[in-house]
Amino acid sequence: MSATAEATAAVAGVEVPTDHYINGERVGSTRTFTTISPIDESVLAEVARAGEAEVDRAVRAAHDAFPDWTALGAAGRAEHLHRLADLIDANVERLAAVECADTAMLLRSLRARVIARGALNYRNYADLAVAYEERDWHSKGTWNRVQRLPAGPAAVITPWNAPFMLSTWKTAPALAAGCTVVLKPAEWSPLSCSLLASLADEAGIPPGVLNVVQGIGEEAGATLVAHPLIRRVSFTGSTETARFIGAAAARNVVPFTAELGGKNPFIVFADADLDAAAAKAAGQYDDAGQVCLSGTRLLIEEPVLEEFLTKFHAATDAHVLGDPCDDATTVSPLIHADHLARVEGFVERARAAGQRVVRGGRRAGGLFYEPTLIEPTGNDAEIVQNEVFGPVLTYQTFRTEEQAVALANSTKYGLSAIIYTSSMGRADRVGRAVRSGVAWVNTFLVRDLTAPFGGVGQSGIGREGGDYALDFYSDLKTLQILDGSVR
Ligand code: NAD
Repeated sequence: MSATAEATAAVAGVEVPTDHYINGERVGSTRTFTTISPIDESVLAEVARAGEAEVDRAVRAAHDAFPDWTALGAAGRAEHLHRLADLIDANVERLAAVECADTAMLLRSLRARVIARGALNYRNYADLAVAYEERDWHSKGTWNRVQRLPAGPAAVITPWNAPFMLSTWKTAPALAAGCTVVLKPAEWSPLSCSLLASLADEAGIPPGVLNVVQGIGEEAGATLVAHPLIRRVSFTGSTETARFIGAAAARNVVPFTAELGGKNPFIVFADADLDAAAAKAAGQYDDAGQVCLSGTRLLIEEPVLEEFLTKFHAATDAHVLGDPCDDATTVSPLIHADHLARVEGFVERARAAGQRVVRGGRRAGGLFYEPTLIEPTGNDAEIVQNEVFGPVLTYQTFRTEEQAVALANSTKYGLSAIIYTSSMGRADRVGRAVRSGVAWVNTFLVRDLTAPFGGVGQSGIGREGGDYALDFYSDLKTLQILDGSVR
């Protein structure tokens, strides 16, 4: 481990630091890992690979920076976070170009929506933390006050899809609440979070407040979440990894939130606008289906199945597989050859088990996989019950509202649900009955940042969003003073 001249890689015309960012400095490692571009599998960068020493150094930096960051108060911290948000806005093009190269997410949605959400995250949480009012009341002869106290250094672990947005979604409430942070991005897409560290530095966020360590999940990630100085663990990723991280947090008796995978129902009732429903269903292939909230189980009311499928196929035929930097492209390649093999494995096992592959079901060159639709033989099929995290949808039919809800709620997950209907009564009944963290009616991915966000069942623990996240990064304390005992 050394503090040396800054190591960088030129990615999409942007110089990206490839070292860790610890205590306001770039810090290298003796080992590196390689990040490739899913667009053409070319090597983008050799990135510093943290071991125990680098993780420990980052956590200690966060621990040492905590008292002064806390002492700034919500308003003082908000000034820093607003400056960071402004810098994100000013750097959308660079961030989007690097993240597109590193993840193959569609450049136009990164530019227009995803990266800009990072700036919104910092502004939203900074303002919410300032607006928070402590609750005061009298009872039982005492004056009571709920105090929201910053919890301490937080470990934030993020996945490879939308790495910049998801890292800001977690670091923003942590920093606004007064925690300091050690962020470990995913090893398949580490680069945009390195730029986040550079922007935090430029924004004047004090050394040690936001640290970024790069590395492998089972090494750097596991060391980070088990570190005894960490007071909160926030994780987004797979259900399998959450078990390890949750166990590590439990050993240190540290609160833990997890935003995990899903197998989300996309329910289409016969009274719905079928054109809109079919277009949105085909849109679930965007970003190659590597979106946790995607509605991957199409549940269609039987009488409109044929009409819906005709429209769905027409909308899917219009997809363009290609370079994600090209505005005409709608379906990008998958993140990595290992992930492509995993997706392919799901489809091959489904085929071998007698499920009908209605469209797609093949590789399409490079890391592309064809938009795939499968009609399963039964609801217990692996392809129905497990998250694929690729461009693979299934469809099933139902006859009654009760059957639709039963199918929707029949997996171990519960992240999102998408419902298409023109009936207000049904929207309310089904919206209430589906077991998920969010249910959208006649729309998808619309998010109010003050609303709670998370999953039920194997889709997650805890809620992020708005005050729910600020509470998570705080210790809530009740102060009670005996009436008349102080002046
Ligand atoms: P993953 O669980 O493999 O990895 C996520 C992160 O955890 C990475 O940074 C990785 O390095 C780290 N990690 C791996 N093993 C670890 C360990 N033992 N200890 C500590 N850290 C470890 O997930 P992924 O493949 O990167 O992401 C895809 C998954 O994330 C999908 O299941 C998807 O649904 C889910 N996801 C959920 C949401 C949500 O908001 N619910 C959002 C995006 C992605």
